[in-house]
Amino acid sequence: MSFVYFDHNATTPLDQRVLEAMLPFLREQYGNASSRHDMGITARRAVDQAREQVAALVNVRPPQVVFTSGGTEANNLFIKGAAEILKPSQVAVSAIEHPCVARPAEALARKGWQLRKLAVTGDGVVDMNDVDDALQTKTGMVSVMLANNESGVIQPVAEIAERARAAKAWMHTDAVQALGKIAVDFEALQVHAMTVSAHKIYGPKGAGALIVDKRIELAPLLSGGGHEHGLRSGTENVPAIVGFGAACDLAAGRLDEIAAQLEKLRARVEQGLSAMGAVIFGNHAQRVPNTSYFAFRGIDGETLIIELDKMGFGVAAGAACSSTNPEPSATLLAMGVAPEIARGAVRFSLGVSNTAQDVDAFLAALKQVVARLKNLTAMAV
Ligand code: PLP
Repeated sequence: MSFVYFDHNATTPLDQRVLEAMLPFLREQYGNASSRHDMGITARRAVDQAREQVAALVNVRPPQVVFTSGGTEANNLFIKGAAEILKPSQVAVSAIEHPCVARPAEALARKGWQLRKLAVTGDGVVDMNDVDDALQTKTGMVSVMLANNESGVIQPVAEIAERARAAKAWMHTDAVQALGKIAVDFEALQVHAMTVSAHKIYGPKGAGALIVDKRIELAPLLSGGGHEHGLRSGTENVPAIVGFGAACDLAAGRLDEIAAQLEKLRARVEQGLSAMGAVIFGNHAQRVPNTSYFAFRGIDGETLIIELDKMGFGVAAGAACSSTNPEPSATLLAMGVAPEIARGAVRFSLGVSNTAQDVDAFLAALKQVVARLKNLTAMAV
């Protein structure tokens, strides 16, 4: 049976061109980028080139790119690294952050920091009134994601950054779900630090970066040989870093084309979903073009996902990392969605290889499953 993948916010397939760029560094070019001989120099040059490619995609200078093992590490590096430097005060993060921002922020609350969760509106956008209110209190750092991983809703990061800077707070954004889907410009966002990850943009798993404004100082999570300007010691994962660079290059060259293609497919899906009576979350806000987040009243999301999987379609319930957690999505609860509707949430996220035929086949399968599950529910009542 064929399998159609609609879970690109969890991870994307490795692009063939990215794989080709990585292969020499998995085979014959295995040098350590710190070695002074020919193979080391080749590895170093490859890392330098990747740094330029990542920097170009987000409009920064290459030394601002600190390679990490992924988005999780980059988010931890900012929050924990800043907390080592700043005196404890308030840390403000949105109520819809990924757990790899939410958990480190909660950990600071146990170390003398005051944690403030910024409220979101019913559309899933951070409430600027709550930002203003939060910044009345002395705040050391603010972290608000650029696009939410579940709803795809784009956040007013530049506006929040402006206010955070005025309040002398360090501003960070987790841009993992925005990169490769919309233009992400570090300078225009006016943030002090930004997280990106390779495997959401057709690059390899296990590579990411924290983009850092040189005017802030962070303490490293890992110390040792002083790699990455002392911010992340450890022998560089050259093949993955090369793949990340290649994926950024690819994304830069096809951003507009991808956005238009995915937006069209999403509109097709959502037309079908609305016709079937689905509730679509965040669809009145600006969203990244590939994501649709929906629920059917009275139908459990996990059950829907399992039934769709049996029919050859891969979709997700909320965030991939918390799909084993039976609690309704914290993002939806923060948006004021009733828990019984939030329990039905399904995340559908498109990628470049999806077609209109894939979408039509998905909608046909969904229609069957929803009708069957509704019948079962009606019989149980
Ligand atoms: N931030 C967001 C918004 C994400 O969606 C994810 C992954 O799902 C991450 C961070 C973690 O990135 P990584 O998988 O590279 O650790």
